[in-house]
Amino acid sequence: MRLYDSFSRQIIPLPDPKTRELTFYCCGPTVYGPAHIGNFRTFLMQDVLRRVIQATGGRIKHVRNLTDVDDKTIRQSRAEGKTLAEFTSLWTQRFHEDCAALNILPPHVEPGAVAHIPQQIALIQKLLDKGHAYTTPDGSVYFRIESYPNYGNLSRLAERQTTTSSFPSQLTERETADEYNRDSAADFALWKARKPEDGDNFWTAPWGQGRPGWHIECSSMCLHHLGATTDIHSGGIDLLFPHHENEIAQSEAATGTTFVRHWFHIHHLMVEGAKMSKSLGNLYTLADVQARGHSAADLRYLLISGHYRQELNFTMDGLHAARSALRRLAKFYTLLGGNPHSFKANYDLPPPETQEIQRGPFARFWAALLEDLNTPAALGELFSIITPLQPHVAAGNYPPEEIPLIRGAFERVIYSLGLDLAEPKCDPPSEVKQLAEQRFTAKKARDYKLADSLRDKIQCLGWNVKDTREGYSLEMIPRNNLKN
Ligand code: AMP
Ligand code: ZN
Repeated sequence: MRLYDSFSRQIIPLPDPKTRELTFYCCGPTVYGPAHIGNFRTFLMQDVLRRVIQATGGRIKHVRNLTDVDDKTIRQSRAEGKTLAEFTSLWTQRFHEDCAALNILPPHVEPGAVAHIPQQIALIQKLLDKGHAYTTPDGSVYFRIESYPNYGNLSRLAERQTTTSSFPSQLTERETADEYNRDSAADFALWKARKPEDGDNFWTAPWGQGRPGWHIECSSMCLHHLGATTDIHSGGIDLLFPHHENEIAQSEAATGTTFVRHWFHIHHLMVEGAKMSKSLGNLYTLADVQARGHSAADLRYLLISGHYRQELNFTMDGLHAARSALRRLAKFYTLLGGNPHSFKANYDLPPPETQEIQRGPFARFWAALLEDLNTPAALGELFSIITPLQPHVAAGNYPPEEIPLIRGAFERVIYSLGLDLAEPKCDPPSEVKQLAEQRFTAKKARDYKLADSLRDKIQCLGWNVKDTREGYSLEMIPRNNLKN
């Protein structure tokens, strides 16, 4: 497989995952609230990369961390009167539920930052011993970027400096501006000295009490679980600088060897053409999408349908299109004798037949994925393959002994994208549930006029209400049958 590497800025081959297991580290979520659909675009593309490697017969070890201690987790847990562990475990559980709904395979290892404090302290100590870090009078520790000559190679800092004439600030949205007297404004925190607002959330290191910085958390979990050099390291494009630049500096300064062979960055999800933000009110979670009557399967399809190196625009129309694409695939699978409701794209797949990927019926689909994970091209190829095939299969013109072969090859395709072909059973949005309750009450009071008008309202929202012996039931009207 060939994949774009943000460090060399070229599409270069990955090591062959059939000859040895690839190592894959993904910067995971900060567990202080529900992940939004932009976060899920990143986690989904990472999932597709892993699935493609596995589906084509390769092996890959996937580690994705949990950022369970930082400014936001501490602040929010204290505001809610919970311990940090109670608070982050609730949001971790929610994250796992969302991932399961979106068919994102669980990573093989999911380390949490709090459970790796000794490793972080040891790494910081090593950097202090080698002269790459220094302590400040208050007990914080900083990385001295001047001590690491390769600093800035990932984000091409030198080029950016000549155009901006100043060093980009290390202070991102996720870090509060510490007033500590670091030697250079560009140096970044490895350890933040204990502050009164941290409450009980501090640990004791040889240089004092405090907590690790975000960058060192990732480096130490990555080095601990995957060794000095990792094949692929990934995150959203916003992590390229400073997070990944800093990860390289501190890891390579400590180990003396290449930290990462291949940098895989996913570009951002936009919503109706705008950047997602709380202030614009366009920050959607999976639950928000479901409350509008769409399924996690539709969302997954939409979020993986764009090329990961381009911004993707999320629209409600896009979700409708995703549903009809999934229906077409389900129909084809049914014609092949498969059951879309029992097929789950997350089982252990046997390795492909020798020529299946290069010469099988879906060879063009695989070729698109194996060249820089081009999911839009792969989906285009998939439909261009099944569209002419479908009438032949439907008319029974296909040799019956070949049908199971095509079905197996098609299942591998669906597995690699992690698609769920079953017709979704969505929970009705609360607005629909309330109207249905009101209608039920109106019927009991024999106000049939009101009950009928409420039924119409419910239908306009995309749901049918049916009377049952116990009361009533709600069913989503299939999208194709909606009036508008
Ligand atoms: P966080 O929980 O903020 O640490 O983010 C988790 C992951 O989501 C990181 O890899 C981010 O780079 C990524 N991310 C954040 N916003 C977006 C977005 N709008 N589109 C795609 N990925 C994003
Ligand atoms: Zn990270």
